[in-house]
Amino acid sequence: MEASLAKYRDPKAAKALVAQIHEAAPVEPMSLMEVCGGQTHTIYQYRLREMLPTSVRLVSGPGCPVCVTPITYIDQAVALCQIPGVVVFTFGDLVRVPGTRLSLEKARALGGRVREVYSPLDALIYAREHPESQVVFLGIGFETTLPTFSLPLQMAIRENRNNFSVLLSAKRVPPVLDALLRSKAPINGFITPGHVTSIIGANAYSELCERYQVPMVVGGFEPIDLLIAIRDLVRLVAEGKHDNANAYPRAARPQGNIKAQQLFAELYEPCDEELRGLGIIADAGYKLRDCFASFDALRKFDLGKIVSAEPAGCRCGQVLAGTIVPEQCPLFGKRCTPDHSIGACMVSMEGTCNAAYLYRDSHE
Ligand code: SF4
Repeated sequence: MEASLAKYRDPKAAKALVAQIHEAAPVEPMSLMEVCGGQTHTIYQYRLREMLPTSVRLVSGPGCPVCVTPITYIDQAVALCQIPGVVVFTFGDLVRVPGTRLSLEKARALGGRVREVYSPLDALIYAREHPESQVVFLGIGFETTLPTFSLPLQMAIRENRNNFSVLLSAKRVPPVLDALLRSKAPINGFITPGHVTSIIGANAYSELCERYQVPMVVGGFEPIDLLIAIRDLVRLVAEGKHDNANAYPRAARPQGNIKAQQLFAELYEPCDEELRGLGIIADAGYKLRDCFASFDALRKFDLGKIVSAEPAGCRCGQVLAGTIVPEQCPLFGKRCTPDHSIGACMVSMEGTCNAAYLYRDSHE
């Protein structure tokens, strides 16, 4: 293990933090939501739940980008890859997410043109080298992944590259938290996502804390990062405070990444957005500005009428809203496993069902 990481996984430090959490926790039960799928994985992997007082419950939130991407989006991507001349480029996880009829993986087996890339820049390079092809990049994710494909998109726009476009499903964390709070979800405090916060800035949550009188603490992804965030959040809840605190200052600053924010402002404008399980949320997404419409795959290609339906029996929606745990889905570990996923929450490495399945033995 890298020395720099070792201190964030130190058992002695973890033990001390767990003792502080027990000391701070009141008898009354509280529910704390970790928003990000990466945080959920660490919580399962290091069995953090089992270390907490019984009065402190951790609830997994909707921060897995693949999981919250609606099934209609998968169906649109499948339709795109079947158009002659179109090549769809995507990050790996997305190819296995079931659509209504096909996943991208299955569509590829049937002749659809789908390529997995680590860097969206590869899609732009392909577009430059293959002017006869129409390249579509599947731009999904929260504010963390948005810069990775926004930069190649900006380059394509500046080059006036007319064979490059993006199928966008970009999500914004603060409006999603706003919707959860408005729905009166029984959450006493939020561990906000460190990576997203490194882009949007820790200040982005202050207004929500004030309006809903709820505390939030920015959390990282290593066990010590999360235990510090949990300790700070437990203390705030116990004291009846609604501060917006930061337990991940090594990456998340108050103002965030100004250059990334400027890039977003240049290319996108906020729009209402559908999230799987949470429905359409006001201002929870980004759409390309009208002046860049020719780079928007949905406006560029006629996909006809697409009728989508969630897989029968899948309860991803409730898992994402934090109203059930994966084990409460009747398909969990039976018909739905990482090798044979029925829903997106089992496919993605950041999915709650995937984490619950992967580390299930450690909880038995
Ligand atoms: S176990 Fe599978 S089917 Fe059930 S909610 Fe999770 S992903 Fe959906």
